[in-house]
Amino acid sequence: MPVRDPVKVQIVINRALRKLVCRNCGALNPPGATKCRRCRSRNLRPKRIEKGIKKG
Ligand SMILES: [Zn+2]
Repeated sequence: MPVRDPVKVQIVINRALRKLVCRNCGALNPPGATKCRRCRSRNLRPKRIEKGIKKG
């Protein structure tokens, strides 16, 4: 079911996509993390918001 309500889309962006992805093992980490929770590497990048959202 596509989400069309812009308010809900904004919530999805803020909640679901504001995560850090480990470049080493690809694990998702919480937004405030400084180290990966799986491999403890500090090589984290923010998850891309533009590519993560599908149209509609
Ligand atoms: Zn990792």
